[in-house]
Amino acid sequence: MASKKGNLSINSENMFPIIKKWLYSDHDIFYREVISNACDAITKIRKMDMMGEYELPEGFKPRVDIILNDKEKTIKIVDNGIGMTAEEVEEYINQVAFSGATDFLNKYKDKANADQIIGHFGLGFYSTFMVAENVDIDTLSYKSDAASVHWTCDGGSDFEMSDGDKTEVGTTITLHLSEDCLEFCNEYKAREVIQKYCSFMPYEIYLSRENEEGTETIKASEKLESDTVIEEVHPEKKEGEEEEPELQYKIKRRPQLLNDTHPLWAKTPKDCTDEEYKEFYRKVFRDYKEPLFWIHLNMDYPFNLKGILYFPKINMEFESIEGTIKLYNNQVFIADNIKEVIPEYLMLLKGVIDCPDLPLNVSRSALQNDGFVKKISEYISKKVAEKLAGLCKTDKENYDKYWDDISPFIKYGCLRDDKFCEKMTDYILFKNLDGKYLTTPEALQINKEAEEEAAEEEAVDENGNKVEAEVVDDAKTDSADSKADDKEEDKEPRTIYYVTDEQQQSQYINMFKAQKMDAFIMNHNIDVPFMEQLERKNEGIKFLRIDADLTDSFKSKTSKKAAKELEEQEKGLAEKIKKALKNDKLTVKLEKLKDKKVSSMLTVSEESRRMAEMMKMYAMNGMSMGDFGNEGQTLILNANHPLVQYVLENEDGANTRMICEQLYDLARIQNAPLEGEAMSKFVMRSNDIMMLLAK
Ligand code: ADP
Repeated sequence: MASKKGNLSINSENMFPIIKKWLYSDHDIFYREVISNACDAITKIRKMDMMGEYELPEGFKPRVDIILNDKEKTIKIVDNGIGMTAEEVEEYINQVAFSGATDFLNKYKDKANADQIIGHFGLGFYSTFMVAENVDIDTLSYKSDAASVHWTCDGGSDFEMSDGDKTEVGTTITLHLSEDCLEFCNEYKAREVIQKYCSFMPYEIYLSRENEEGTETIKASEKLESDTVIEEVHPEKKEGEEEEPELQYKIKRRPQLLNDTHPLWAKTPKDCTDEEYKEFYRKVFRDYKEPLFWIHLNMDYPFNLKGILYFPKINMEFESIEGTIKLYNNQVFIADNIKEVIPEYLMLLKGVIDCPDLPLNVSRSALQNDGFVKKISEYISKKVAEKLAGLCKTDKENYDKYWDDISPFIKYGCLRDDKFCEKMTDYILFKNLDGKYLTTPEALQINKEAEEEAAEEEAVDENGNKVEAEVVDDAKTDSADSKADDKEEDKEPRTIYYVTDEQQQSQYINMFKAQKMDAFIMNHNIDVPFMEQLERKNEGIKFLRIDADLTDSFKSKTSKKAAKELEEQEKGLAEKIKKALKNDKLTVKLEKLKDKKVSSMLTVSEESRRMAEMMKMYAMNGMSMGDFGNEGQTLILNANHPLVQYVLENEDGANTRMICEQLYDLARIQNAPLEGEAMSKFVMRSNDIMMLLAK
């Protein structure tokens, strides 16, 4: 072939600067592009062989070699794939690339750097010009009459094509790196980048250095034909050894294999062992904590999708929970965390998804509106829900164990995705005060027995004689329409108590336990919005923190008459207390508590507290919180306690005042630590009270 010079058609002067700018943050992607081209070329030649159009040489081993030369400042990408004829170079490199480029230019003129999904514009090969001043192609086609071709281009608009000297079928791309991109022929950098994008490409990829000085020593029996022997090594015979030690060779360091051509996700799930899953997890995510469990996705219809999703063990306190979902297209890494494909709440997982059908030749914004992509996302979400449901049904013991770790993202998922929520409804767990995990249907029945018992309890007067109870339940006397009644029962108002801090709320917990009442531990940030969602979805269900209200079970039943008396006493007492505490806003209640040892306690209304928590969040963002802290507090005094009796019976005086203050502080202290001045007053007063004992 006579040497041919030509002009790379259409807009090429504009194209290179744009490619450079577009890909600026992702320079390293050229490695992915040329290596996947090399793999494609190998796939093609194997196809030719299978179709009988070509016969692969005996012992053919598909491979791609990346050869670095930091003296010459070159990177060579060598494959033994299909190669190209001169016509094909003309067609695929000189022309096709540019029609792709025109499309690309038209589409992305204005947002040339926004997209992370790169390639597949028919521009892959040209991404090499991001890092190279000159690129050479040396190629020999598999076709029997083909001649080898040498092509070179300086990244401007001119190329040169001439006869080449390649003697083996395949292609070698040589990049002459620009001065500012020399890092890419550094061995460590190259390995890092190639492992990022090519760890699971389907053919073996080897990395080596042309101007390599490194050596390694091997046994003669391990020598491969491709090894370059530098010298023979004769190991000395060790004492006591009978046989002569085996001859060794010092050889030039062998090319390093960089990838795993059979990623675990591509295997059939039933052929994979737990150890393999764990090993794969360690390797891919460099996380040495074992994952809790995993889901192997394997689907051929209606689209092709394979992958493994791992539920990582999360250490709440020290790590932010941030997962990584790696997206692949036919074993070629595309990007991490493409939120259009993976439901947002699953971003907390770690995993790999390989989806050859993904339309990658569109931008991310187009992905968002792509029905197909949405289906993928829904499929993944469905699979995750199914796996969790299955675990809960068949292996509840382990599901319980995982629950604390996985519940934040499941709850987040329920908040974000109605379909997921629906599927998960029966598999959400609630941990009770004894550390047992109940499912939602079980949880909604919590305390039913205790409440019924309390309702059936008979009222007694001071002398222990039965009297008519104060509360008459007349709601159920009219049962004309039994159907309506059944329905009512479903929606029967139910209060479910929860604890956010077992230490802090231990006083209340003890009272609960004494009455055989139970509550759930809800100590994660996500729990408040999650409970609000449950309240919305389950009419009649109300979540109250354990200190939000005094349940009827704590109160002794009294006669109507006694209740009336109590009400009257309450008024006078409230006045007395408010005056003593110089606090008009405080709500005071007088109750007959079953536990005679409790003198006072505090409740904080659920609404006020949720509101205060929200305000606190705003305050953390710099908004003023004002005096929101004490809103909704009720001081409850036990009429059955002698100290409260004392206050009721005695007029204002130093002692009464001191008892009032102390009762209030004791109630507060069971709810939250006293702060600043309140604390020092409490300490001083406690001392004064003890002084009275010492007198
Ligand atoms: P794409 O890979 O998206 O088609 P490229 O610009 O990367 O776009 O490559 C254009 C074409 O050049 C390829 O489709 C292929 O036919 C040919 N080609 C590129 N690299 C090789 C190679 N290593 N061996 C054989 N053909 C190649």
